Amino acid sequence: MLHIRNYINGGFHNPNGDQWIDNVNPATGDVYSLIARSTETDVDLAVQAAQQAFPAWRDMGHKKRSEILMAVSKGIAKHLPDLALAESNDQGKPLWLSTQVDIPRAVDNMSFFATEILHTSTDTYQTDNHTLNYTLRTPIGVVGCISPWNLPLYLFTWKIAPALAAGNCVVAKPSELTPMTAFLFAQICIDAGIPPGVLNILHGYGAECGAAIVAHPDVKAISFTGGTVTGKHIATVAAPMFKKLSLELGGKNATLVFKGVDIAHTARHVARAAFTNQGEICLCGSRILIEQDIYDEFKAELLKETQRFVVGDPLLESTRTGALVNKAHLDKVLGYVELAKEEGGTVLTGGKTVEIGGRCASGFFMSPTLIEGLPANCRVNQEEVFGPVATLMPFTTEAEALQIANSTQYGLAASVWTQNLSQAHRVAQNLETGIVWVNSWLVRDLRTPFGGVKASGVGREGGTEALRFFTEVKNICIQI
Ligand code: NAD
Repeated sequence: MLHIRNYINGGFHNPNGDQWIDNVNPATGDVYSLIARSTETDVDLAVQAAQQAFPAWRDMGHKKRSEILMAVSKGIAKHLPDLALAESNDQGKPLWLSTQVDIPRAVDNMSFFATEILHTSTDTYQTDNHTLNYTLRTPIGVVGCISPWNLPLYLFTWKIAPALAAGNCVVAKPSELTPMTAFLFAQICIDAGIPPGVLNILHGYGAECGAAIVAHPDVKAISFTGGTVTGKHIATVAAPMFKKLSLELGGKNATLVFKGVDIAHTARHVARAAFTNQGEICLCGSRILIEQDIYDEFKAELLKETQRFVVGDPLLESTRTGALVNKAHLDKVLGYVELAKEEGGTVLTGGKTVEIGGRCASGFFMSPTLIEGLPANCRVNQEEVFGPVATLMPFTTEAEALQIANSTQYGLAASVWTQNLSQAHRVAQNLETGIVWVNSWLVRDLRTPFGGVKASGVGREGGTEALRFFTEVKNICIQI
Protein backbone atom coordinates (compact mmCIF):
# COMPACT_ATOMS: atom_id res chain seq x y z
CA MET A 1 0.00 0.00 0.00
CA LEU A 2 1.25 3.49 -0.84
CA HIS A 3 2.73 5.35 2.14
CA ILE A 4 2.25 9.13 2.22
CA ARG A 5 5.55 10.16 3.80
CA ASN A 6 6.81 13.43 5.14
CA TYR A 7 8.93 15.70 2.92
CA ILE A 8 11.69 17.11 5.12
CA ASN A 9 14.97 18.73 4.08
CA GLY A 10 14.54 17.70 0.44
CA GLY A 11 13.78 14.00 1.04
CA PHE A 12 10.96 11.66 2.04
CA HIS A 13 10.86 10.30 5.60
CA ASN A 14 8.70 7.97 7.67
CA PRO A 15 7.23 9.57 10.79
CA ASN A 16 9.39 9.24 13.88
CA GLY A 17 7.04 6.84 15.70
CA ASP A 18 6.33 4.83 12.49
CA GLN A 19 2.59 5.31 13.06
CA TRP A 20 0.25 5.55 10.06
CA ILE A 21 -3.32 6.72 9.49
CA ASP A 22 -5.72 5.05 7.03
CA ASN A 23 -6.51 7.17 3.98
CA VAL A 24 -10.01 6.47 2.67
CA ASN A 25 -11.41 7.14 -0.80
CA PRO A 26 -14.81 8.71 0.06
CA ALA A 27 -16.41 7.53 -3.18
CA THR A 28 -15.67 3.84 -2.48
CA GLY A 29 -15.08 3.69 1.26
CA ASP A 30 -11.80 1.82 0.63
CA VAL A 31 -8.55 2.45 2.48
CA TYR A 32 -6.16 3.03 -0.40
CA SER A 33 -3.05 4.53 1.24
CA LEU A 34 -1.47 5.20 4.62
CA ILE A 35 -0.65 8.65 5.97
CA ALA A 36 2.33 9.50 8.17
CA ARG A 37 1.16 10.26 11.71
CA SER A 38 3.70 12.93 12.56
CA THR A 39 4.38 14.32 16.00
CA GLU A 40 6.42 17.05 17.66
CA THR A 41 9.70 15.24 16.86
CA ASP A 42 8.99 15.33 13.10
CA VAL A 43 7.93 18.98 13.34
CA ASP A 44 11.16 19.78 15.13
CA LEU A 45 13.24 18.17 12.36
CA ALA A 46 11.33 20.10 9.72
CA VAL A 47 11.73 23.42 11.56
CA GLN A 48 15.48 22.84 11.96
CA ALA A 49 15.80 22.11 8.23
CA ALA A 50 13.81 25.23 7.40
CA GLN A 51 15.94 27.39 9.68
CA GLN A 52 19.13 26.16 8.06
CA ALA A 53 17.77 26.75 4.57
CA PHE A 54 16.44 30.23 5.34
CA PRO A 55 19.50 32.52 4.87
CA ALA A 56 20.34 31.18 1.40
CA TRP A 57 16.69 31.26 0.22
CA ARG A 58 16.20 34.80 1.58
CA ASP A 59 19.38 36.04 -0.06
CA MET A 60 18.88 34.26 -3.37
CA GLY A 61 17.17 37.29 -4.89
CA HIS A 62 13.72 37.69 -6.39
CA LYS A 63 14.60 36.67 -9.91
CA LYS A 64 16.06 33.28 -9.05
CA ARG A 65 13.29 32.53 -6.54
CA SER A 66 10.75 33.49 -9.16
CA GLU A 67 12.33 31.10 -11.70
CA ILE A 68 12.17 28.18 -9.26
CA LEU A 69 8.54 28.88 -8.35
CA MET A 70 7.63 29.17 -12.04
CA ALA A 71 9.22 25.74 -12.51
CA VAL A 72 6.95 24.42 -9.73
CA SER A 73 3.93 25.94 -11.50
CA LYS A 74 4.95 24.27 -14.78
CA GLY A 75 5.49 20.98 -12.92
CA ILE A 76 1.91 21.07 -11.60
CA ALA A 77 0.61 21.84 -15.10
CA LYS A 78 2.62 18.93 -16.53
CA HIS A 79 1.11 16.51 -14.00
CA LEU A 80 -2.41 18.00 -14.15
CA PRO A 81 -4.28 14.78 -15.11
CA ASP A 82 -2.58 12.72 -12.35
CA LEU A 83 -3.11 15.41 -9.74
CA ALA A 84 -6.75 15.92 -10.71
CA LEU A 85 -7.44 12.19 -10.41
CA ALA A 86 -5.62 12.03 -7.07
CA GLU A 87 -7.68 14.99 -5.79
CA SER A 88 -10.94 13.40 -6.85
CA ASN A 89 -10.03 10.04 -5.26
CA ASP A 90 -8.90 11.71 -2.03
CA GLN A 91 -11.69 14.27 -1.59
CA GLY A 92 -14.69 12.82 -3.43
CA LYS A 93 -15.17 15.78 -5.80
CA PRO A 94 -16.04 15.21 -9.48
CA LEU A 95 -12.96 14.59 -11.62
CA TRP A 96 -14.02 17.25 -14.13
CA LEU A 97 -14.06 19.81 -11.27
CA SER A 98 -10.55 19.03 -10.05
CA THR A 99 -9.41 19.01 -13.70
CA GLN A 100 -11.01 22.35 -14.55
CA VAL A 101 -10.75 24.21 -11.25
CA ASP A 102 -8.62 22.82 -8.40
CA ILE A 103 -5.41 21.90 -10.19
CA PRO A 104 -5.40 24.79 -12.71
CA ARG A 105 -5.82 27.11 -9.74
CA ALA A 106 -2.78 25.53 -8.04
CA VAL A 107 -0.82 26.21 -11.27
CA ASP A 108 -1.99 29.83 -11.16
CA ASN A 109 -1.26 30.28 -7.45
CA MET A 110 2.38 29.39 -8.00
CA SER A 111 2.87 31.47 -11.15
CA PHE A 112 0.93 34.44 -9.74
CA PHE A 113 3.20 34.88 -6.70
CA ALA A 114 6.32 33.87 -8.67
CA THR A 115 5.72 36.87 -10.92
CA GLU A 116 4.19 39.21 -8.35
CA ILE A 117 7.49 39.48 -6.46
CA LEU A 118 9.09 40.89 -9.62
CA HIS A 119 6.73 43.87 -9.53
CA THR A 120 6.61 45.05 -5.93
CA SER A 121 8.06 48.22 -4.46
CA THR A 122 8.33 49.78 -1.03
CA ASP A 123 7.53 53.33 0.16
CA THR A 124 9.59 56.46 0.72
CA TYR A 125 8.49 59.52 2.70
CA GLN A 126 10.10 62.89 2.13
CA THR A 127 9.82 64.97 5.26
CA ASP A 128 10.46 68.66 5.70
CA ASN A 129 12.98 68.43 8.54
CA HIS A 130 15.71 67.10 6.25
CA THR A 131 15.00 63.48 6.84
CA LEU A 132 14.20 60.73 4.42
CA ASN A 133 12.16 57.77 5.54
CA TYR A 134 11.90 54.60 3.56
CA THR A 135 10.62 51.10 4.22
CA LEU A 136 12.06 47.68 3.64
CA ARG A 137 10.12 44.45 3.56
CA THR A 138 11.97 41.38 4.73
CA PRO A 139 10.85 37.76 5.03
CA ILE A 140 9.86 36.57 8.48
CA GLY A 141 11.89 33.33 8.64
CA VAL A 142 10.20 29.98 9.20
CA VAL A 143 6.43 30.09 8.78
CA GLY A 144 3.68 27.49 9.24
CA CYS A 145 0.93 26.89 6.66
CA ILE A 146 -2.03 24.69 7.63
CA SER A 147 -4.84 23.93 5.20
CA PRO A 148 -8.23 22.12 5.11
CA TRP A 149 -9.69 19.25 3.07
CA ASN A 150 -12.25 20.88 0.83
CA LEU A 151 -9.97 22.39 -1.85
CA PRO A 152 -6.77 20.54 -0.99
CA LEU A 153 -3.98 21.53 -3.41
CA TYR A 154 -5.79 24.76 -4.34
CA LEU A 155 -5.64 26.12 -0.77
CA PHE A 156 -2.30 24.50 0.13
CA THR A 157 -0.52 26.33 -2.70
CA TRP A 158 -2.51 29.53 -2.03
CA LYS A 159 -0.51 29.81 1.22
CA ILE A 160 2.79 28.22 0.27
CA ALA A 161 3.27 30.27 -2.91
CA PRO A 162 3.31 33.75 -1.28
CA ALA A 163 5.24 32.47 1.75
CA LEU A 164 8.03 31.08 -0.42
CA ALA A 165 7.95 33.93 -2.93
CA ALA A 166 8.48 36.45 -0.12
CA GLY A 167 11.62 34.55 0.90
CA ASN A 168 10.40 32.50 3.88
CA CYS A 169 10.98 28.84 4.53
CA VAL A 170 7.85 26.83 5.16
CA VAL A 171 6.64 23.99 7.34
CA ALA A 172 3.26 23.02 5.89
CA LYS A 173 0.53 20.56 6.77
CA PRO A 174 -2.39 19.53 4.54
CA SER A 175 -5.51 18.01 6.06
CA GLU A 176 -5.19 14.40 7.18
CA LEU A 177 -8.39 13.74 5.19
CA THR A 178 -6.87 14.82 1.87
CA PRO A 179 -3.04 14.58 1.94
CA MET A 180 -2.42 12.95 -1.44
CA THR A 181 -1.87 15.92 -3.74
CA ALA A 182 0.40 17.63 -1.18
CA PHE A 183 2.48 14.44 -1.17
CA LEU A 184 2.69 14.42 -4.99
CA PHE A 185 3.42 18.15 -4.93
CA ALA A 186 6.57 17.48 -2.85
CA GLN A 187 8.11 15.51 -5.72
CA ILE A 188 7.20 18.30 -8.15
CA CYS A 189 9.04 20.76 -5.87
CA ILE A 190 12.12 18.53 -5.79
CA ASP A 191 12.08 18.26 -9.60
CA ALA A 192 11.66 22.04 -9.92
CA GLY A 193 14.79 22.69 -7.85
CA ILE A 194 13.39 23.93 -4.54
CA PRO A 195 16.48 23.67 -2.30
CA PRO A 196 16.32 21.17 0.60
CA GLY A 197 14.66 22.58 3.73
CA VAL A 198 12.99 25.53 1.99
CA LEU A 199 9.64 23.71 1.96
CA ASN A 200 8.80 20.89 4.34
CA ILE A 201 5.47 19.04 4.18
CA LEU A 202 4.30 17.11 7.21
CA HIS A 203 1.28 14.83 7.48
CA GLY A 204 -0.81 13.86 10.45
CA TYR A 205 -3.59 14.84 12.80
CA GLY A 206 -4.32 18.46 13.53
CA ALA A 207 -4.22 18.04 17.29
CA GLU A 208 -0.75 16.42 17.08
CA CYS A 209 1.19 17.57 14.04
CA GLY A 210 -0.73 20.83 13.40
CA ALA A 211 -0.65 21.81 17.06
CA ALA A 212 3.13 21.18 17.21
CA ILE A 213 3.69 23.52 14.23
CA VAL A 214 1.59 26.24 15.87
CA ALA A 215 3.35 25.88 19.25
CA HIS A 216 6.90 25.67 17.91
CA PRO A 217 8.84 28.71 19.14
CA ASP A 218 10.86 29.01 15.91
CA VAL A 219 7.79 29.15 13.65
CA LYS A 220 7.21 32.90 13.51
CA ALA A 221 3.92 33.14 11.64
CA ILE A 222 0.92 30.87 11.10
CA SER A 223 -1.31 31.00 8.05
CA PHE A 224 -4.32 28.82 8.78
CA THR A 225 -7.44 27.93 6.80
CA GLY A 226 -10.03 25.73 8.46
CA GLY A 227 -12.87 25.71 10.96
CA THR A 228 -13.67 28.61 13.29
CA VAL A 229 -13.32 26.48 16.44
CA THR A 230 -9.84 25.32 15.36
CA GLY A 231 -8.88 28.89 14.44
CA LYS A 232 -9.94 30.13 17.86
CA HIS A 233 -7.82 27.45 19.53
CA ILE A 234 -4.80 28.27 17.35
CA ALA A 235 -5.14 31.95 18.27
CA THR A 236 -5.01 31.13 21.99
CA VAL A 237 -1.67 29.35 21.47
CA ALA A 238 -0.07 31.67 18.91
CA ALA A 239 -1.14 35.09 20.18
CA PRO A 240 0.74 34.96 23.53
CA MET A 241 3.85 33.93 21.53
CA PHE A 242 3.38 37.11 19.42
CA LYS A 243 3.23 35.17 16.17
CA LYS A 244 1.77 36.77 13.09
CA LEU A 245 -1.57 35.10 12.41
CA SER A 246 -3.74 34.83 9.33
CA LEU A 247 -6.99 32.96 9.97
CA GLU A 248 -9.37 32.04 7.13
CA LEU A 249 -12.31 30.38 8.86
CA GLY A 250 -15.87 29.21 8.36
CA GLY A 251 -18.80 30.88 6.64
CA LYS A 252 -22.59 30.92 6.57
CA ASN A 253 -22.96 32.93 3.44
CA ALA A 254 -26.16 34.58 2.29
CA THR A 255 -27.40 34.77 -1.29
CA LEU A 256 -29.80 37.70 -1.72
CA VAL A 257 -32.21 37.57 -4.66
CA PHE A 258 -34.22 40.73 -5.43
CA LYS A 259 -37.22 41.04 -7.73
CA GLY A 260 -36.51 42.09 -11.30
CA VAL A 261 -33.76 39.53 -11.94
CA ASP A 262 -33.86 36.99 -14.76
CA ILE A 263 -35.28 34.12 -12.71
CA ALA A 264 -33.94 31.19 -14.77
CA HIS A 265 -30.43 32.61 -15.08
CA THR A 266 -30.25 33.58 -11.41
CA ALA A 267 -31.61 30.25 -10.17
CA ARG A 268 -28.94 28.44 -12.20
CA HIS A 269 -26.14 30.42 -10.53
CA VAL A 270 -27.70 30.36 -7.06
CA ALA A 271 -27.82 26.54 -7.28
CA ARG A 272 -24.20 26.53 -8.41
CA ALA A 273 -23.29 28.71 -5.41
CA ALA A 274 -25.09 26.33 -3.04
CA PHE A 275 -24.01 22.94 -4.38
CA THR A 276 -20.66 23.14 -6.16
CA ASN A 277 -18.13 20.72 -4.65
CA GLN A 278 -20.99 19.11 -2.64
CA GLY A 279 -21.47 22.46 -0.90
CA GLU A 280 -18.06 21.94 0.68
CA ILE A 281 -16.66 25.38 -0.12
CA CYS A 282 -16.35 28.03 2.58
CA LEU A 283 -17.89 30.50 0.08
CA CYS A 284 -21.00 28.46 -0.76
CA GLY A 285 -24.27 30.37 -0.41
CA SER A 286 -26.20 28.20 2.03
CA ARG A 287 -28.87 30.75 3.07
CA ILE A 288 -30.93 31.84 0.06
CA LEU A 289 -32.94 34.99 0.75
CA ILE A 290 -35.64 35.67 -1.84
CA GLU A 291 -37.85 38.75 -2.19
CA GLN A 292 -41.44 37.74 -1.34
CA ASP A 293 -42.94 38.88 -4.71
CA ILE A 294 -40.86 36.32 -6.64
CA TYR A 295 -40.52 33.64 -3.92
CA ASP A 296 -42.76 30.96 -5.46
CA GLU A 297 -41.54 31.43 -9.03
CA PHE A 298 -37.90 31.45 -7.94
CA LYS A 299 -38.36 28.41 -5.68
CA ALA A 300 -39.81 26.38 -8.57
CA GLU A 301 -36.90 27.29 -10.83
CA LEU A 302 -34.34 26.59 -8.10
CA LEU A 303 -35.84 23.15 -7.51
CA LYS A 304 -35.41 22.41 -11.21
CA GLU A 305 -31.79 23.56 -11.14
CA THR A 306 -31.08 21.51 -8.01
CA GLN A 307 -32.20 18.32 -9.82
CA ARG A 308 -29.37 18.96 -12.28
CA PHE A 309 -26.78 18.38 -9.54
CA VAL A 310 -26.76 14.68 -10.35
CA VAL A 311 -25.16 12.55 -7.63
CA GLY A 312 -22.80 9.93 -8.96
CA ASP A 313 -19.38 8.36 -9.29
CA PRO A 314 -16.91 11.29 -9.18
CA LEU A 315 -15.03 9.81 -12.13
CA LEU A 316 -18.03 10.12 -14.49
CA GLU A 317 -18.36 13.20 -16.67
CA SER A 318 -22.12 13.37 -15.92
CA THR A 319 -21.64 13.67 -12.14
CA ARG A 320 -22.20 17.09 -10.63
CA THR A 321 -22.29 16.00 -6.97
CA GLY A 322 -19.58 13.63 -5.79
CA ALA A 323 -19.05 12.01 -2.39
CA LEU A 324 -18.85 13.90 0.90
CA VAL A 325 -15.37 13.81 2.35
CA ASN A 326 -15.94 11.06 4.94
CA LYS A 327 -18.58 9.12 6.84
CA ALA A 328 -18.41 11.36 9.91
CA HIS A 329 -19.01 14.45 7.80
CA LEU A 330 -21.88 12.80 5.91
CA ASP A 331 -23.49 11.91 9.26
CA LYS A 332 -22.99 15.48 10.49
CA VAL A 333 -24.67 16.96 7.40
CA LEU A 334 -27.57 14.46 7.56
CA GLY A 335 -27.89 15.34 11.25
CA TYR A 336 -28.49 18.98 10.26
CA VAL A 337 -31.31 17.87 7.93
CA GLU A 338 -32.96 16.07 10.88
CA LEU A 339 -32.42 19.14 13.05
CA ALA A 340 -34.05 21.30 10.37
CA LYS A 341 -37.19 19.14 10.56
CA GLU A 342 -37.22 19.48 14.36
CA GLU A 343 -36.82 23.23 13.98
CA GLY A 344 -39.94 23.39 11.81
CA GLY A 345 -38.43 23.24 8.33
CA THR A 346 -39.84 21.46 5.28
CA VAL A 347 -37.42 19.52 3.11
CA LEU A 348 -38.34 20.45 -0.47
CA THR A 349 -35.88 18.08 -2.11
CA GLY A 350 -33.00 15.78 -1.11
CA GLY A 351 -31.96 15.28 2.48
CA LYS A 352 -31.13 11.61 2.05
CA THR A 353 -28.19 9.34 1.32
CA VAL A 354 -27.93 8.10 -2.26
CA GLU A 355 -27.01 4.54 -3.19
CA ILE A 356 -24.73 4.59 -6.21
CA GLY A 357 -23.89 0.89 -6.51
CA GLY A 358 -20.95 -0.63 -8.38
CA ARG A 359 -17.52 0.51 -7.21
CA CYS A 360 -19.22 3.33 -5.24
CA ALA A 361 -21.58 1.04 -3.27
CA SER A 362 -19.90 1.97 0.05
CA GLY A 363 -19.30 5.65 -0.74
CA PHE A 364 -20.56 8.68 1.22
CA PHE A 365 -23.19 10.22 -1.06
CA MET A 366 -26.21 12.41 -0.35
CA SER A 367 -28.64 14.35 -2.49
CA PRO A 368 -28.56 18.16 -2.75
CA THR A 369 -31.07 19.50 -0.26
CA LEU A 370 -33.34 22.54 -0.13
CA ILE A 371 -35.24 23.41 3.04
CA GLU A 372 -37.82 26.15 3.65
CA GLY A 373 -39.87 27.39 6.58
CA LEU A 374 -37.04 27.87 9.06
CA PRO A 375 -36.61 31.04 11.13
CA ALA A 376 -33.41 33.00 10.48
CA ASN A 377 -32.21 32.51 14.04
CA CYS A 378 -32.51 28.70 14.24
CA ARG A 379 -29.39 26.54 14.48
CA VAL A 380 -29.56 25.32 10.87
CA ASN A 381 -29.56 28.95 9.71
CA GLN A 382 -26.82 29.99 12.13
CA GLU A 383 -24.29 27.12 12.09
CA GLU A 384 -22.01 26.11 9.24
CA VAL A 385 -23.28 22.85 7.71
CA PHE A 386 -20.59 22.67 4.98
CA GLY A 387 -22.48 20.24 2.78
CA PRO A 388 -25.10 20.20 -0.01
CA VAL A 389 -27.80 21.81 2.13
CA ALA A 390 -29.33 25.26 1.57
CA THR A 391 -32.29 27.01 3.15
CA LEU A 392 -34.80 29.35 1.50
CA MET A 393 -36.13 32.41 3.34
CA PRO A 394 -38.50 35.11 2.03
CA PHE A 395 -38.03 38.83 2.78
CA THR A 396 -40.15 41.87 2.04
CA THR A 397 -37.74 44.83 2.31
CA GLU A 398 -34.08 45.45 1.57
CA ALA A 399 -33.54 46.30 5.25
CA GLU A 400 -35.01 42.96 6.29
CA ALA A 401 -32.79 41.10 3.79
CA LEU A 402 -29.72 42.83 5.21
CA GLN A 403 -30.79 42.14 8.78
CA ILE A 404 -31.16 38.40 8.05
CA ALA A 405 -27.94 38.24 6.01
CA ASN A 406 -25.94 39.90 8.81
CA SER A 407 -27.55 37.94 11.63
CA THR A 408 -24.93 35.17 11.98
CA GLN A 409 -21.57 35.17 13.77
CA TYR A 410 -19.91 34.63 10.36
CA GLY A 411 -18.91 37.21 7.77
CA LEU A 412 -17.04 35.60 4.89
CA ALA A 413 -18.90 36.24 1.64
CA ALA A 414 -22.28 37.08 0.14
CA SER A 415 -23.79 37.21 -3.32
CA VAL A 416 -26.41 39.72 -4.37
CA TRP A 417 -28.69 39.31 -7.38
CA THR A 418 -30.39 42.51 -8.55
CA GLN A 419 -30.98 44.63 -11.65
CA ASN A 420 -31.01 47.83 -9.59
CA LEU A 421 -27.56 49.43 -9.66
CA SER A 422 -28.08 51.64 -6.62
CA GLN A 423 -29.42 48.70 -4.69
CA ALA A 424 -26.37 46.62 -5.67
CA HIS A 425 -23.98 49.23 -4.27
CA ARG A 426 -26.07 49.94 -1.19
CA VAL A 427 -26.52 46.29 -0.23
CA ALA A 428 -22.87 45.43 -0.96
CA GLN A 429 -21.75 48.28 1.29
CA ASN A 430 -23.99 47.19 4.17
CA LEU A 431 -23.26 43.48 4.17
CA GLU A 432 -20.95 42.49 7.03
CA THR A 433 -18.64 40.28 4.94
CA GLY A 434 -15.13 40.40 3.50
CA ILE A 435 -16.31 39.62 -0.03
CA VAL A 436 -19.48 40.51 -1.96
CA TRP A 437 -20.27 39.19 -5.42
CA VAL A 438 -22.97 41.03 -7.37
CA ASN A 439 -24.78 39.04 -10.06
CA SER A 440 -21.99 36.47 -9.82
CA TRP A 441 -20.41 33.99 -7.45
CA LEU A 442 -16.84 32.80 -6.95
CA VAL A 443 -15.37 34.98 -9.66
CA ARG A 444 -11.78 35.29 -8.50
CA ASP A 445 -8.96 37.65 -9.39
CA LEU A 446 -5.84 36.64 -7.46
CA ARG A 447 -4.88 40.29 -6.92
CA THR A 448 -7.92 41.06 -4.77
CA PRO A 449 -8.01 40.79 -0.95
CA PHE A 450 -9.57 37.53 0.21
CA GLY A 451 -10.90 36.85 3.70
CA GLY A 452 -13.69 37.34 6.19
CA VAL A 453 -14.83 39.44 9.11
CA LYS A 454 -16.37 38.46 12.47
CA ALA A 455 -15.95 34.71 13.17
CA SER A 456 -14.87 34.10 9.55
CA GLY A 457 -11.34 35.18 10.22
CA VAL A 458 -8.59 37.68 10.76
CA GLY A 459 -6.42 39.10 7.99
CA ARG A 460 -6.55 38.85 4.22
CA GLU A 461 -4.93 36.61 1.65
CA GLY A 462 -4.37 37.33 -2.04
CA GLY A 463 -2.16 39.70 -4.01
CA THR A 464 -0.13 42.22 -2.06
CA GLU A 465 -2.06 41.40 1.13
CA ALA A 466 -0.46 37.94 1.18
CA LEU A 467 3.03 39.28 0.53
CA ARG A 468 2.53 41.84 3.31
CA PHE A 469 1.50 39.09 5.71
CA PHE A 470 4.58 37.03 4.92
CA THR A 471 7.01 39.94 5.38
CA GLU A 472 7.99 42.33 8.17
CA VAL A 473 8.09 46.01 7.33
CA LYS A 474 10.94 48.12 8.66
CA ASN A 475 11.12 51.91 8.65
CA ILE A 476 14.54 53.47 8.07
CA CYS A 477 14.95 57.16 8.85
CA ILE A 478 17.99 59.06 7.53
CA GLN A 479 18.98 62.56 8.54
CA ILE A 480 20.29 64.22 5.42
P1 NAD B 1 -10.29 21.96 10.54
O1 NAD B 1 -10.22 23.20 11.32
O2 NAD B 1 -10.78 20.72 11.19
O3 NAD B 1 -8.84 21.56 9.99
C1 NAD B 1 -8.09 22.42 9.15
C2 NAD B 1 -6.63 22.06 9.26
O4 NAD B 1 -6.19 22.34 10.59
C3 NAD B 1 -6.32 20.57 9.03
O5 NAD B 1 -5.08 20.45 8.38
C4 NAD B 1 -6.23 20.02 10.44
O6 NAD B 1 -5.44 18.88 10.55
C5 NAD B 1 -5.59 21.19 11.17
N1 NAD B 1 -5.84 21.25 12.61
C6 NAD B 1 -6.89 20.75 13.30
N2 NAD B 1 -6.74 20.99 14.62
C7 NAD B 1 -5.59 21.69 14.76
C8 NAD B 1 -4.90 22.24 15.88
N3 NAD B 1 -5.35 22.11 17.12
N4 NAD B 1 -3.75 22.91 15.66
C9 NAD B 1 -3.28 23.05 14.40
N5 NAD B 1 -3.87 22.54 13.31
C10 NAD B 1 -5.02 21.86 13.49
O7 NAD B 1 -11.11 22.32 9.24
P2 NAD B 1 -11.56 21.33 8.08
O8 NAD B 1 -12.70 20.50 8.60
O9 NAD B 1 -10.37 20.67 7.50
O10 NAD B 1 -12.09 22.37 6.97
C11 NAD B 1 -13.39 22.83 6.92
C12 NAD B 1 -13.47 24.23 7.47
O11 NAD B 1 -12.57 25.08 6.76
C13 NAD B 1 -14.84 24.85 7.27
O12 NAD B 1 -15.20 25.53 8.44
C14 NAD B 1 -14.62 25.84 6.13
O13 NAD B 1 -15.50 26.92 6.10
C15 NAD B 1 -13.23 26.28 6.40
N6 NAD B 1 -12.63 26.87 5.20
C16 NAD B 1 -12.40 28.21 5.18
C17 NAD B 1 -11.86 28.80 4.04
C18 NAD B 1 -11.58 30.28 3.98
O14 NAD B 1 -10.85 30.69 3.09
N7 NAD B 1 -12.14 31.09 4.86
C19 NAD B 1 -11.54 28.00 2.94
C20 NAD B 1 -11.79 26.64 3.01
C21 NAD B 1 -12.33 26.07 4.14
